[in-house]
Amino acid sequence: MIIEIIEKKKNGLALTKDELTFAFEGFLKGNVPDYQMSSLLMAICLRGLNEDEIFCLTDLFLKSGEILDWSSVEGIKVDKHSTGGVGDKTTLVLAPLVAACLVPVVKMSGRGLGHTGGTIDKLESIPGYRTDLTEEEIKRQVEQIGVVVTGQTKDLVPMDKKVYALRDVTGTVESLGLIATSIMSKKLASGADKILIDIKVGNGALIKTGEDAEVLSEMMKKIGNHYGREVQTVFSDMNVPLGRTIGNSLEVMEAIDVLKGKEQNEFSSLCIDLASRMVSMAKGIDLVSSKQEVMNALLSGKALSKFLELIKAQGGDLSHLSVSEKVLEIKSEREGVVRKIDALKMAKYSMNLGAGRKEEGDQIDPEVGIYLEKLVDDSVQIGDTLCRVYYHDDLPKEDIASYFTIESF
Ligand code: URA
Repeated sequence: MIIEIIEKKKNGLALTKDELTFAFEGFLKGNVPDYQMSSLLMAICLRGLNEDEIFCLTDLFLKSGEILDWSSVEGIKVDKHSTGGVGDKTTLVLAPLVAACLVPVVKMSGRGLGHTGGTIDKLESIPGYRTDLTEEEIKRQVEQIGVVVTGQTKDLVPMDKKVYALRDVTGTVESLGLIATSIMSKKLASGADKILIDIKVGNGALIKTGEDAEVLSEMMKKIGNHYGREVQTVFSDMNVPLGRTIGNSLEVMEAIDVLKGKEQNEFSSLCIDLASRMVSMAKGIDLVSSKQEVMNALLSGKALSKFLELIKAQGGDLSHLSVSEKVLEIKSEREGVVRKIDALKMAKYSMNLGAGRKEEGDQIDPEVGIYLEKLVDDSVQIGDTLCRVYYHDDLPKEDIASYFTIESF
């Protein structure tokens, strides 16, 4: 039966509800082995899923585990999700920033997928920070301090957890249908009232073109509406890494710099934009008013205090957040203006340093990564540092300086 299902999809035919149930429930129960599910996922990647299949699969995913209910927590809960990028640490800034505007935030985040990073891996670079809170602990914390950022509870969409881990290591991440199913099932199960999706577009994102972003956006809105949830989407550029850092501890440090008002670049602007949208959705106010609230929370230091409260509540000790002492400065051999920094190549380089997983179960090295001294539109002189590479073992042999496109003055 499973072989017929794989072949049917390989031939570009739509699968029925029974067939999808047989394959995916079978996989979750261990009756369909990894190699057959990998093959089916590859056929789905190449042939796609139609709307009925996406609805059916989302429902199967959603009902594979518990569905959380935060209705006892006062206020409209707005969740945000990114489709995955390079250097995307927005949640670390957004969650406390939105909570500082008195909007409760229950954020369940994931790990890195493919070359893209994951919030949970970043937070785990803070010694002691717990990412495995139970439902009771989440409820208690959101009632006490208004914000939680944790991993998905053990029983939240277990089907996605198992499929996601396999997709990550079988080259089957980049399917619009699978991305929509994966994200929306988790958002629906997480119990948010409203959902904001940050669709990353560009060579460093899972979504490479504006057309694909439009299709994904429509799919996710339709799924949300089907379950009675408002879904808004934002498209943001991912041809260039977001902000200055790629790598887990480095990204936490950069998020803190933004909360301290030390960094103002594309990354901080995106955080402010997303936070304003979340506050606007939660409070039913216009974007100008919500942006004012967000800026007040940022400039007054309330967002930073909320971040510190969050880290402490979940057991984290920022005094032991560290990066590797082995640092290589990459110097420019050209002068001019930085026009591009290749996000995908930077992500792969950083993964080779140990900041991401190449195989399921790989340990992440939180202390390695890249710090970009020069950003797009910056001027560069010969001998200037383009970036710093934090490493532990052998350095990747690729020439990281070549990932910067520098146009002569
Ligand atoms: N993020 C997810 O949660 N799932 C995907 O499939 C892609 C990005």
